[in-house]
Amino acid sequence: MDLPTEQRKDPKIKEIIEALERYEEIPKRRHLLNIRKNSLNMELYLLVVPNHMKKEILYEMYDALSGAHMGVAKTWNRIKTRFIWPKIYSDVRNYVLSCEECARVKTDTTKPKGLLQPWTIIEKTFQRVGIDTLGKFPVTANGNRLPIKRINRNLERMSEKSKKRFDKNRQQIDFSPGDLVYLRKPNRKVGLSEKLLPQYSGPWEIVMKTAPNNYQITNHTRKKMDIVNVERLKRFNK
Ligand SMILES: [Zn+2]
Repeated sequence: MDLPTEQRKDPKIKEIIEALERYEEIPKRRHLLNIRKNSLNMELYLLVVPNHMKKEILYEMYDALSGAHMGVAKTWNRIKTRFIWPKIYSDVRNYVLSCEECARVKTDTTKPKGLLQPWTIIEKTFQRVGIDTLGKFPVTANGNRLPIKRINRNLERMSEKSKKRFDKNRQQIDFSPGDLVYLRKPNRKVGLSEKLLPQYSGPWEIVMKTAPNNYQITNHTRKKMDIVNVERLKRFNK
């Protein structure tokens, strides 16, 4: 699955990417649209999911992998740190609540409170929208053909930050497509002898970098996919 290509199949995402490309004059095709979000003291890069891939993501995060029918709150926690699309929360909620397998077991649900609608974020604070190129960010002096004026003010500052972040990441761990890695399991709250459980799964294969700190990985059958933070990855040495 080629995420940059998939993103451009969605007309709305394509429009945003092309607007940014016009301004930045960066190499086309190889980069992904992410939304940067500061959550507590973490900086997250949310992959903007094209319309036709929503179901696939929901399946991966809820039915497959370690998701395993976790309920609205836990499924949402997994998804909100990785992905974004318009009305994502209600999609997640509807998807989970409409699961027939779980319907027999579930009795109550929690109400959504104080939710942000992702596309509102984009319109209000466009400085949070960026393209994660895997290279340098030249900023043109005469890029005035922008549909959204706010980009103009903010991109230069953002580019500088992205550049620094990129350089910093390169000094840390940088995986390439095809590299094999172990995936550290998320911390569990099960009280049972944690030390006896395997802490890593894999090896997994790196598919691509989806954000400065995130990688898309797949298992050997390519049926399972996930997007994970680089901190959870460890190089697999034969
Ligand atoms: Zn279920």
